[in-house]
Amino acid sequence: MSVGIRYDWQKAEIQAIYNTPFLELIYQAASVHRQYHDSKKIQVCKLISIKTGACPEDCGYCAQSSRYQTEVKPQALLEKETVIKIAQKAKATGVSRVCMGAAWREVRDNSQFDTVLEMVKDVTDMGLEVCCTLGMLTTNQAKRLEAAGLYAYNHNLDTSEEHYSTIITTRTYSDRLNTIDNVRQTNVTVCSGGILGLGESVEDRVGMLETLANLHPHPESVPINILSQVPGTPLENQPDVPIWDVVRMIATARMIMPNSDVRLSAGRARLSQVEQALCFMAGANSIFSSDDNQMLTVTTPCPDYDADREMLNLLGLEMRPPHQRPEKLTTPAVIS
Ligand code: SAM
Ligand code: SF4
Repeated sequence: MSVGIRYDWQKAEIQAIYNTPFLELIYQAASVHRQYHDSKKIQVCKLISIKTGACPEDCGYCAQSSRYQTEVKPQALLEKETVIKIAQKAKATGVSRVCMGAAWREVRDNSQFDTVLEMVKDVTDMGLEVCCTLGMLTTNQAKRLEAAGLYAYNHNLDTSEEHYSTIITTRTYSDRLNTIDNVRQTNVTVCSGGILGLGESVEDRVGMLETLANLHPHPESVPINILSQVPGTPLENQPDVPIWDVVRMIATARMIMPNSDVRLSAGRARLSQVEQALCFMAGANSIFSSDDNQMLTVTTPCPDYDADREMLNLLGLEMRPPHQRPEKLTTPAVIS
C-alpha cells in the first residue's frame, strides 16, 4: 500500500486505523514506514535535564512540579561545561540527538536563557542535532534559538484538548499550540506528541493524534510517552498501559504522519525487548538512551547505552546519524 501526506484527517478515520485488527495494523504501519524511512535505522537520543524541579506548573504526571511531594531534588541550571561533557560522552556511544529539558513554565529573556543559547551553539557545533524543551516560547525567543543553531523544539500536547484540563490547569491547550506556532515562524523543526496512561479514553488518544496530524506541516518528531507513575503525583496510582495500546498508538501515528520520526520515549524501561521490537515493527524509529539510567532525572527510568546497543544488534538495527537542519530562509545575524 502507498500513502501520501495529508493534513485533513477526520477523527473517524483515525479511530478506524487505531481499531484495525492488531496484526493487520502492524503490517500496514510497517509498510508505510518502509515507504518513508530506512527501516534498519533507529535514532538514539539522549535527554539532559539542564534545570531540574521546582516547576510552578501543575502537570499531574510530573515529578518536577513544585506542587507535589516527589523524590526530585531541585537543581539550578547546569554549567555549560557539564552539558558539553555529557553530550560528548553520548556522541561517543552513537547518540545523534541531544534533548535539553528545563523545568520551566516559559522561557524568560535573562542570563539563564543566554547560557542555554550557548549550550545549543556548542552542542550543535559538535555535529549533534539539538532539541530543547523549555516550556512556552515567544517568536523572538524561537528566533534566538534558531540563530544559535537549534534543530528542534519539543512541546508536547500530551493528550486531547478535552482531557487536557483534567491533567494540567496552569496553562491551556491553545497556549501549547501557540508556542508550536511560534516555533513554526523559524526553521527550527517541531517535536510534539503525548503520553499514554493519563486516564484518557481512546477518543482522547485519537483526538490528540487528529490535532497533531492536521498541523501543517506535521511535527517532524512525535514522541509517544508511556506514563511513568511517579509517587507523590496525582497520577501515581494509574494502571500500566497495556503494550497493545502502545503499539496501536505508534502504528496509528506512523500511518497518519508517515514522514515524521515516531519516538518511543518515556516509559520504555518497563518494556521487554520483544515488546520494543513490536514498537519498531509498528513504525517507531527512535529511542532515548542514557548512561545513568535516568531520563527525566529521577522521574522516569531509561535503559542504558549498553543494553540498548545489545538490543539493536539483536534486532539488526543501526543507529542513524544526525540530520542537518534545513537551510535557513533568512539568517538573522544577532537577535536580542
Ligand atoms: N517544562 C517543559 C514542558 O513541559 O514542556 C519541558 C519538560 S517536560 C519534563 C517534557 C515532557 O516529558 C512532558 O511534556 C511529558 O510529555 C513528559 N513527561 C514528564 N513526566 C513524565 C512521566 N512521569 N511519564 C511520562 N512522560 C512524562
Ligand atoms: Fe513543569 Fe514541564 Fe513538568 Fe509540567 S511537564 S510540571 S511544565 S517540567
